[in-house]
Amino acid sequence: MAQNGDQVPVSDMPADGTWPTGTTQWEKRNIALEIPVWDPEVCIQCGLCNLVCPHAAIRMKYFDKKLLENAPETFKTAQGKGKFKDYVFANQVAPEDCTGCGACVHTCPAKNKEVQGRKAINMEPQPPLREAEAENYRFFLDIPEFDRTELNPATVKESQLLRPLFEYSGACAGCGETPYVKLLTQLYGDRAVIANATGCSSIYGGNLPTTPYTKDLSGRGPPGTTASLRTPPSSATVSGSPRTSTPKPQLNC
Ligand code: SF4
Ligand code: SF4
Repeated sequence: MAQNGDQVPVSDMPADGTWPTGTTQWEKRNIALEIPVWDPEVCIQCGLCNLVCPHAAIRMKYFDKKLLENAPETFKTAQGKGKFKDYVFANQVAPEDCTGCGACVHTCPAKNKEVQGRKAINMEPQPPLREAEAENYRFFLDIPEFDRTELNPATVKESQLLRPLFEYSGACAGCGETPYVKLLTQLYGDRAVIANATGCSSIYGGNLPTTPYTKDLSGRGPPGTTASLRTPPSSATVSGSPRTSTPKPQLNC
């Protein structure tokens, strides 16, 4: 990422071919011309925008109001609804990781009854929002996750309160595959095992030097990445974390 790859000696490379996970968080590609802006008054807290985001770049949390004490000035919340009525709710975009694809806005079912054509999230130019929303996102990430044992992952809404362990991948804007991979990591966490043939999934799953697969607070997470870019498309490549053995490289020249 620092463009100093030529200076890294081979002796510094891990002999087993593994590399650190959770590194896409440092990329901050910052490619969106527009990002979604949340309207807490209109939002019905359904979680659909979080579900469809290909990059885990919009996230929601319920938490205790006390945690808002040091919130940035522009950090937005709403009172929780239904089962979560005793908590406050935040739906926060990661402005420098969002690709501006608009899938979240397209999917949002909540219409603003006072302003025609507006929803509970609406795309707005990114540059004037970037700094404040980046600060809001940093604050948001530090808010503790909801206790996953109290959530029902069989519902769209509550599945989106589970921390994704696949985030900010280099997939194309609006990718239709990555929301499913992300959802798998939310539902199964470190018990997920990803098997894929070479193709998009092995590229966005480990577009070195970064990888979108990441870890939870206890340091556990799903896969590293695929073993070989020359794996025949018909054969699956399986990897898991913690990996117990190094896959044998396949040379199919
Ligand atoms: S615009 Fe696309 S990348 Fe950005 S938060 Fe919405 S769905 Fe995610
Ligand atoms: S899809 Fe719309 S209504 Fe549902 S949580 Fe997202 S912003 Fe709110």
